[in-house]
Amino acid sequence: MAKGKINVSVENIFPLIKKFLYSDHEIFLRELISNATDATLKLKHLSTIGEAKVDYGDPKIEVKIDKEGKKLHIIDQGVGMSKEEVEKYINEVAFSGAEEFLEKYKDTAKDSGIIGHFGLGFYSAFMVAEKVEIITKSYVDEESAVHWTCDGSPEFALTEADKKDRGTEIILHIAEDSTEFLEEHRIRELLVKYNKFMPVPIKFGTKEIDDPEFEPKTIKDKDGKETKEPHKKITVDNIINNPNPAWTKQPSDLKDEDYSSFYRELYPMQFEEPLFNIHLNVDYPFNLTGILYFPKLTTNIDIQKDRIQLYQNQVFVTDNVEGIVPEFLQMLRGVIDSPDIPLNVSRSYLQADGAVKKISSYITKKVADKLQSLFKNDREGFEKKWNDIKIVIEYGMLSEPKFYEKAFKFALFPTVDDSYFTFDELIEKVKPAQTDKDKNIVLLYATNADEQHSYIEEAKEKGYEVLLLDSPIVSHLIQKIEGENSELSAEKQPIKFARVDSDFIDNLIKKDEDKVSKLTEEEQTKLKEIVEGVVPKEYTVQLEALDSNANPFVITIPEFMRRMKEMSQTGGGGMMGMSNFPEMYNLVVNTNNDLMQKILRAKGKKEEYVNQALDLAKLSQNLLKGKDLTAFIKRSFDIMK
Ligand code: ADP
Ligand code: MG
Repeated sequence: MAKGKINVSVENIFPLIKKFLYSDHEIFLRELISNATDATLKLKHLSTIGEAKVDYGDPKIEVKIDKEGKKLHIIDQGVGMSKEEVEKYINEVAFSGAEEFLEKYKDTAKDSGIIGHFGLGFYSAFMVAEKVEIITKSYVDEESAVHWTCDGSPEFALTEADKKDRGTEIILHIAEDSTEFLEEHRIRELLVKYNKFMPVPIKFGTKEIDDPEFEPKTIKDKDGKETKEPHKKITVDNIINNPNPAWTKQPSDLKDEDYSSFYRELYPMQFEEPLFNIHLNVDYPFNLTGILYFPKLTTNIDIQKDRIQLYQNQVFVTDNVEGIVPEFLQMLRGVIDSPDIPLNVSRSYLQADGAVKKISSYITKKVADKLQSLFKNDREGFEKKWNDIKIVIEYGMLSEPKFYEKAFKFALFPTVDDSYFTFDELIEKVKPAQTDKDKNIVLLYATNADEQHSYIEEAKEKGYEVLLLDSPIVSHLIQKIEGENSELSAEKQPIKFARVDSDFIDNLIKKDEDKVSKLTEEEQTKLKEIVEGVVPKEYTVQLEALDSNANPFVITIPEFMRRMKEMSQTGGGGMMGMSNFPEMYNLVVNTNNDLMQKILRAKGKKEEYVNQALDLAKLSQNLLKGKDLTAFIKRSFDIMK
């Protein structure tokens, strides 16, 4: 029996491994199954290139719990190890055999799918085991089987074993503080989490299924009724993984159904179909495959749940793709698989890493291209999807300058009447009617078609288009669009957005015509005094000579203040501290409406008229609530008496 010391630089590496190596102890299983997978794929590769004269067969990896013996077994039928290899790869800690293999076979093994290079992979077993055994036999016939045992101190024992068939069995003697890993449900959970799409079949127990060969005969039951005889059951291996997930295939080999069934495989609890998908597939200058799905985003989605999953060679790594996928795309779902993403490094390092930056901009570009082609090839379908995808696109336009550039061509601006314009189409359409006297093109929008109904109607009456922009970040976006379009070239006119209720209609798009008031200067001063004496002081009273059939009072909310306030409420941009700023209203008083004569001439009833008109204006701005609403209803009934 050989005894020796594991070659480590620190006196005892194991407590260190246990404490610091990985915060998540559960990853030991991922590491051991990755090694078993590597061992199997190595054999496959060697037999393909004719270096191993073996019958590769149909190898699988088996995970077995021995609850009584407090052991967990991981068994593979891969290359196995000779005594020398155990000494080299296991005893010399932190020596990655996978890297050496890839180096040696670098011309042919590039696409073999070998995982290794995680580093101290095998030793992560000591995070949960007090003793680990390896029983292994190399695929090389002349080599005899060996048995390695280590109890967590740097001392190990190495003896001969009588294992007959090639491959490796790892036996973990689970430590007292880790007995959760002897529970079937816990192991199943881990296998599903980390190994669901690994390339070699993984067996975990058996299951009963209907024998597919068996055809039930029609028989008579005890009452003489005809019935089918019970289906014959057979016991088969319970394979927990799908070794050939959709993202590893060529897009040309996949149909729509394949993408949607893979979506359900990824997120079994998602019942809603995704809107569309993007198949990622590059091998230069980095290697990346994957499928991203656009889910419906209208309903309040839980972004924390069902996120994009990151894999390396089909091994699940994390579902936190921060730093790898740009923030605005983290609302998507799906899979990214890239061996080129450094693992176990801090997020800030990731963000600075050149390869990762390239990956992130590649993903952004692919998404933009896909959207562009959907827009081009199926405009109608794209319009239908717009409301479900706009948040992602608008957020992307705000946060990624490159994406802004591309998306500006296909981002849609829907109107309250359900027409969809691109920005250029919109400008073309509204330019003649909605250019004000200072040459600004004024784009009118509403954020809520019901609440701003009367304002929308006024604008439409003038022949203006009213956009319906109702996503929460729209104030940021229009701020940006105005900014991008503020630099004037000779014919380019500046763009201004204005919500329909931010001023009275003639002021929203000012034309060069001065309206005359029916009231004299004197009457106007008097009217202003009366109104100001009645309305609360958050209203700034503003007399305007509007059409005589326009409403007598209109409440407006100045665009600038409201937008700044909204922007600071939704974070970033806007003005500091604006979110707590009190609401500000303008009360536009139409001096040409006949009611003004009444207010001026009425005896005693002045206050009642003003209040009634104010309340009606509040109603159309959805501002009349609580005791004011009650008072309004009572007053209205009284007037009818
Ligand atoms: P890595 O997988 O990154 O190479 P590990 O610490 O996980 O590092 O494993 C070290 C080496 O031990 C592997 O590269 C491999 O040579 C050997 N090894 C580990 N597990 C097995 C196994 N199940 N079958 C054959 N060799 C193995
Ligand atoms: Mg490994």
